[in-house]
Amino acid sequence: MKQFLFPAALLAFLLGGCSAPAKTQRAKEGITFASNPIVAHRGAFKKNRLPENSIASLKHAIALNCTGSEFDVQMTADDSLVINHDPHYNKLPIEKTPYAELIKTPLSNGEQLPTLRTYLLEGMKNNRSTRLVLEIKPSVISKERGQLIAQRAVALVHELGAARMTVYISFDYDICKKVKELDPKTHVQYLNGDKSPEVVKAGGLDGVDYHYSVFQKHPEWIAQAKQQHIALNAWTVNTAAEMDWLLANGFEFITTNEPELLTERIKKTSAAKGWKLVWSDEFNNNGLPDDHKWGYDVGGSGWGNRELQYYTKADSNNALVKDGTLRIIAHKEKREQNTYTSARLITKGKGDWLYGRVEVSAKLPAGRGVWPAIWMLPTDWKYGGWPASGEMDIMENVGYNPDTVFSSVHTKSFNHVIGTQKTKGFFLKDAGTAFHLYAVEWNKDQIDFFVDDRLFFSFKNTGKGFEEWPFDQKFHLLLNMAMGGNWGGKMGVDEKLDRAVMEVDYVRVFQK
Ligand code: MG
Repeated sequence: MKQFLFPAALLAFLLGGCSAPAKTQRAKEGITFASNPIVAHRGAFKKNRLPENSIASLKHAIALNCTGSEFDVQMTADDSLVINHDPHYNKLPIEKTPYAELIKTPLSNGEQLPTLRTYLLEGMKNNRSTRLVLEIKPSVISKERGQLIAQRAVALVHELGAARMTVYISFDYDICKKVKELDPKTHVQYLNGDKSPEVVKAGGLDGVDYHYSVFQKHPEWIAQAKQQHIALNAWTVNTAAEMDWLLANGFEFITTNEPELLTERIKKTSAAKGWKLVWSDEFNNNGLPDDHKWGYDVGGSGWGNRELQYYTKADSNNALVKDGTLRIIAHKEKREQNTYTSARLITKGKGDWLYGRVEVSAKLPAGRGVWPAIWMLPTDWKYGGWPASGEMDIMENVGYNPDTVFSSVHTKSFNHVIGTQKTKGFFLKDAGTAFHLYAVEWNKDQIDFFVDDRLFFSFKNTGKGFEEWPFDQKFHLLLNMAMGGNWGGKMGVDEKLDRAVMEVDYVRVFQK
């Protein structure tokens, strides 16, 4: 094998030209990266059925104005750098096959297997806004060869004048460090998900680019990366639910096979409307709900509505987080004078807010007699006991009328006891089989209720005082499932109903 020697003097010369801060220099060169977070994974290949890692997919990512287009770099037996994800190309091991042999078979669109040189040259044509996200694949032959691939890639990027367009990523921490050593001004993100942002920052790197499940397991790493001022990137994010979560959490980059879908989600996201996430639970732990975030209302007094359940405290039979969702479970079982057990969770600690947007993704229980609710009560009861200090019901549903969800507002002047509550129903035929997003937006002038981002009910501040508008105080969130009661039990309770579950995918609270 050819021995590769990188001339240190040449590298110093190449890097020496970059004395101006990278940003100023970029501006001079007319480079302004697209302000969206979209990194097309292996180029924008999927929707148009282009081959992954092809020049066509790179060009399409640039045409879509993605902020980055990612590609994978490997090295052939004769030290050519080529673009391919797997260590094999048409069953030939890339590292053990000469370049001339590999290119005998074209890509599915007729393109020749791209070299890094052609890829970078194409990536710089008509492109001043899409980063070239260069993944250096570790060598399957040796650690040393991985270092050599890094050296050669960095040298070529500089030779072609692509340094300011290029960002590097690798699963191999030593390759990341090597790139940074060769080009201290470049931007390098680590992929492997096994180091905290603090450690990555201390190692001199510029970002963490981890599988999104790593951030679900370590939500504290999101805040840590922001504190450390290093970039947050997640791969490979292909569903709306995952995209929404990352957007809500302010990820700078999101690496995806579906850049078109991500473009749509960005338009719809709360973040795009100026909302900032201030509190959330994605329910990614297992077992009881996080006790830093949730407390319980306990007991079986009927709760003012002749309800049948006893609400338990921290009992996983009634409140359980599993497989990414919270389940509130009502069981037919005797407890004191009650015939069911269930749970009523309340946000605690920092879990109360004055104004904002509260969104809860939930799938409702089914069965005559169930009465699930997502709602808000005042924390300090400044204007007196219920209903004077107010109540906001984001979603209520009763089992005998499964196709309608309701939002309501209760105040001293407007409440159900005197028949003056302000309420509105929304027809939703699959509330019991699909997750829907129930949300409230609340400011000093009005309260708006949404189902799946469709506004269906607004309540305005009349300015006539707390009797009509007590909503100028902090409110907290409640999630519960009642059984029976004045409303839920109006048509009786199904005798055969032994168990009913409300499932909550996430709770997110935003403020402006
Ligand atoms: Mg890759």
